Amino acid sequence: MARTAQTLGAAQVRKAEPTLLKAAETMDPGQFLGVAKNFEHQVDGQAALAEANRAHERRYLRIGQPVDGLVRIDGLLDAEGGAIARTTLEPYAKPTKGDERTPGQRLADGLVTQCRRGAGQGHPDGAGPRPQLIINATLDTLAGIDGAPAGQLEWGGTVPAETVRRLACDGALSRITGLGELEWEITHAARSIPPATRRALVARDHHCVFPGCDRPPPWCDGHHLIHWADDGPTKLDNLGLVCGPHHRKVHEEGWKLRRENDGRWIATPPKLTVIARARTG
Ligand SMILES: [Zn+2]
Ligand SMILES: [Zn+2]
Repeated sequence: MARTAQTLGAAQVRKAEPTLLKAAETMDPGQFLGVAKNFEHQVDGQAALAEANRAHERRYLRIGQPVDGLVRIDGLLDAEGGAIARTTLEPYAKPTKGDERTPGQRLADGLVTQCRRGAGQGHPDGAGPRPQLIINATLDTLAGIDGAPAGQLEWGGTVPAETVRRLACDGALSRITGLGELEWEITHAARSIPPATRRALVARDHHCVFPGCDRPPPWCDGHHLIHWADDGPTKLDNLGLVCGPHHRKVHEEGWKLRRENDGRWIATPPKLTVIARARTG
């Protein structure tokens, strides 16, 4: 009420004091703020508009440079922008069965998934153009050979070889470029799953094939069970639909994914010794 008095002048608020006090007694602060803002709008619509415009002017978004493998994003959105962002990202915040991610991690993954969908928005099965990520990598990195250099991202920062392999796995997302004489070979090797194959993949798998996960096709990549860089064909038998977080599990976190003859998918965690080593190391 004091803040409303500052905006409208004490006299205006005094007139409505009994009604406002009554509301304040029965509501939590958040609800009462809505009542106060409504009152401000009724008394002085122009001032309320000016305040909203001032708030809108303060909007910004900053995307930092990678430091220690992390990019800081911070910003302010006006109330409408915030509501749109929340409505858009909320579906991704829902945990799936066995989901170990924190709510914050799920929202972060949601933001990335949503940005990846980008231009592919119009394609309900997730086929079609998506924002391209340009990565510079040697053929050794792509082949996963020990001692190969890291992949270089176009916007700065490096990614491990296994991440290069994941990004190349569904080439609709990435374009891998090599160095010098290797460039032709790598650039032409990076392939995307043809739209017809992608449609067949969606028709067979319906959603992410990781046991317990039901994330829809637009959130999914086509994962090569045997990577194409290791001569795995881009054919239905060698592909599985996996969502972003599970695609990462298979590549960077060492899970094994396979399809049984009866069509069931089995995901096996990395060997316990590997986990133990990671914990002590
Ligand atoms: Zn993959
Ligand atoms: Zn999944």
